Amino acid sequence: MGVTEQGLTEQILSQIPGNPWAGLQRADGLWTAIREGQRTIPSMVETRATAMGEPDWDVVIAGATLGVVIGTALAQRGWRVALLERGELRGREQEWNISRKELKVLVRLGLLTEDELEGAIASQYNPARVAFHQGVELWVEDVLNIGVDPVELLDQLKGKFLIAGGQLLEHTPLKQAIVHQDGITIQAGEKSLKTRLLLDMMGHFSPIAAQARNGAQPDGICLVVGTCADGFEQNNPDANRSGDLMASFTPIRDQCQYFWEAFPARDGRTTYLFTYIDADSGRQSLEALFDDYFDLLPEYQGVELGQLNFKRALFGVLPCYRKSPLKPGWDRILQVGDSSGTQSPLSFGGFGALLRHLQRLVDGLDEALTVDCLDRKALGLINGYQPTIAVTWLFQRAMRVGLEQKLSPNQVNEMLSAVFRVMEASGEKTLKPFLQDVVQFPALASTMLKTGLASPLTVAKVLPQVGLPALLRWTGHYAGLGGYSLLNALRQGGAPVELKLSPQTMFYLHRWQELLEYGAGMDYED
Ligand SMILES: Cc1cc2nc3c(=O)[nH]c(=O)nc-3n(C[C@H](O)[C@H](O)[C@H](O)COP(=O)(O)OP(=O)(O)OC[C@H]3O[C@@H](n4cnc5c(N)ncnc54)[C@H](O)[C@@H]3O)c2cc1C
Repeated sequence: MGVTEQGLTEQILSQIPGNPWAGLQRADGLWTAIREGQRTIPSMVETRATAMGEPDWDVVIAGATLGVVIGTALAQRGWRVALLERGELRGREQEWNISRKELKVLVRLGLLTEDELEGAIASQYNPARVAFHQGVELWVEDVLNIGVDPVELLDQLKGKFLIAGGQLLEHTPLKQAIVHQDGITIQAGEKSLKTRLLLDMMGHFSPIAAQARNGAQPDGICLVVGTCADGFEQNNPDANRSGDLMASFTPIRDQCQYFWEAFPARDGRTTYLFTYIDADSGRQSLEALFDDYFDLLPEYQGVELGQLNFKRALFGVLPCYRKSPLKPGWDRILQVGDSSGTQSPLSFGGFGALLRHLQRLVDGLDEALTVDCLDRKALGLINGYQPTIAVTWLFQRAMRVGLEQKLSPNQVNEMLSAVFRVMEASGEKTLKPFLQDVVQFPALASTMLKTGLASPLTVAKVLPQVGLPALLRWTGHYAGLGGYSLLNALRQGGAPVELKLSPQTMFYLHRWQELLEYGAGMDYED
């Protein structure tokens, strides 16, 4: 019997505690099924005309990772909340990176005290670099430079959730949801629950979201691999210039533009390699991307692999859908968190995206429960169209290379350098929101105009790369962003009016106000 030779990725990953090699293979199995279009459409949700009767719960949340954040806020407002988790509620070991200002909402909503929040911050560094091969290099302060410890954070929130009267059901996977006119009956593990509202927080691969999307293929994928390791010589968070927010040092390779992130973490140094691609069956596996990661890491960080002690391997296949945020497929069910697609297709910062929308989500859900606006249409406004997210699709498109496309090797780097040069010259007010996934109309319009004037040839090359349909779609979203910005400015500029409307109409009005503000990117706090 022949012995199969271990590749470098297998060698390294199978020696890391917890055997991430097995996890990588599972993730690759899923990624293959996506690429080959082999996923079956789940049928977790059914509708029935019969009445459910008296509910036991106001809200059941399926998926506790970020579910505990929303669950605690709603339980603290007096709602009866049950949190279902198929495993245990426990955050991952690896920090979530976020900007400090985005964390403030946890204190503002009364979920954590200032001290508790500080206790959950495991690392921080400044400044961070943005750099592209043979192009621009710039530095920014206070952007995604805080590492939050998910274990500590979720543990704190779990305590608050239980104190507020919430019920946590671990090892209780959601199996079925039957939507009646007056509520939802839920089968989870061996339990049966009756609720007014179900929040689907089961992540990117939520079976309910897949059913609502009718098995649609993702429109884009962000593949990410990385590690946390010690042994790097230069990894002092207090030293100047210790992290990269987004960097590339190679031209297009294997029809992909590779980007890197690197920063000091509590247990060493985290380094990620990520790339934007389509879900074509010819795309590489996560393992192949990891091979490239280990091949390029020494050059990227000026380190020999043998010097490093790998603590963790990190990876993900992050699907993005143009039709996002996902509109509810049924009455009384709403996607929140990664399952909703509310995060930008450019980022893998789903924790940050949830916090950015937390205040409006909690206010919206609270009001929906109070005035009993729980049908598809009403919930659809909580996950309504947001042009600030939709416009970023073109940027994702411009950073990826089709399998058959022949681009000049440094095209993506040249385009990014041209755009970032203009944004740097325009100042932090333009640069910082963009790096935190917020696009605002004035900044976008002026950046595009100035980039077009400064680098017309580079911009002209992007047009055939992204194609006419993508460009036309984008033009609609760009106009939408302009429209939302104008209406939001008019709304803010108008004198406050006392309106005597029904509570249900007020619910719709409030949601529209929030949509205009968030959809125009004007919720961004400097
Ligand atoms: C490599 C990598 C690095 C990242 N780094 C960052 C970062 O630095 N900053 C940041 O903001 N974000 C980061 N993210 C993203 C972040 O981890 C996610 O956005 C976040 O975990 C999303 O939370 P979620 O609760 O929506 O989904 P998930 O984390 O996917 O959680 C879903 C939950 O649902 C549970 N579940 C699934 N099915 C069922 C069921 N049938 N019944 C009950 N429960 C179920 C799961 O067990 C899980 O607890 C990173 C992601 C990856 C892959």
